[in-house]
Amino acid sequence: MKSGLLPTATFALLSLGAVIHPISAAVHFDSSLCEVVVTDPAFNDIVREFYHDKARQLADDGLLSNDFWQKNKDLVFSVCDNGAMYDSFLVHGKGVVFDAQMVGFLYAQSRALVAGRYISAEFPFAVHAKLVTAFVRQAPGLDAGPLAIIEQTLLERGASEAFVTGMTADPDFIRRERTLFAQAMYFLVMHERCHVALDHRARRGRIKQLDDAARTTAEQQMEFEADRCALDIINADESRYDNSPIAYFGVLMTVATQSIVANHPELPAQTSHPSPGARISAATDSVLAYIAGQDSDIAPYYDATVRGTADYFLGLLAELRAHD
Ligand SMILES: [Zn+2]
Repeated sequence: MKSGLLPTATFALLSLGAVIHPISAAVHFDSSLCEVVVTDPAFNDIVREFYHDKARQLADDGLLSNDFWQKNKDLVFSVCDNGAMYDSFLVHGKGVVFDAQMVGFLYAQSRALVAGRYISAEFPFAVHAKLVTAFVRQAPGLDAGPLAIIEQTLLERGASEAFVTGMTADPDFIRRERTLFAQAMYFLVMHERCHVALDHRARRGRIKQLDDAARTTAEQQMEFEADRCALDIINADESRYDNSPIAYFGVLMTVATQSIVANHPELPAQTSHPSPGARISAATDSVLAYIAGQDSDIAPYYDATVRGTADYFLGLLAELRAHD
């Protein structure tokens, strides 16, 4: 699979935090896990912001249990370009490897979701659907990168080049795009850290002797638990502000990225992961329960947003499967 990394300039634009970090010696803890080690500070700074800074802030704020933090605080990370593996994975006792193409695709999805709303209130997911479909199908034109696919989709849907240029330079657009992308990174990071906090390595050891079917069920159960744990943390964090179910979009983008791999046998199989549809359905139930627990005027709007988004995405997955 070919799909160029996003240009550094794009990521430099994104720099979400204002803090300049010294380069950590812990980065690239095991380069044997990488086909290519990504040293681009733009990628590494973004991962660090969520993986280290956000996690530490949550611990300081008391949103992670002491047990959670003790198991997690010394873990490090690497950013690799693993031939568009489109996944992050945990190296127990060490840290997490993030695929740079996956990070880039999460960013592109954030842009597609925001841009879709700018050009059509009626079909706000059209741009996102086009982007995800192009990658799942490995359609021609991927070499140009996901941002070029988004731009082309916008032009096809009647936007002028001047509109697209103006929109992507608009500070409100950029703020919305960053907010969504931050949710994707946040969910991804907490999902991996939750595997550690929930002692999933020890459980993996215990389920080894099970037969294939039982082991797969047990492995998938751990993925649901890590998703749930990550959502609970993000919702608890969000509850301090405006109770919005924005975490749901982090799950959506992560699962949409997984669907690229799930639909492509030539990419590494993910049988230990639940299907994208099962994952999004479980997350939908969990987020709807979170919204139902709120006593606020805006809760019905959030409920409708999450249901509408779930319908869109489950429909897209069904369509992708139907044409396999
Ligand atoms: Zn996982």
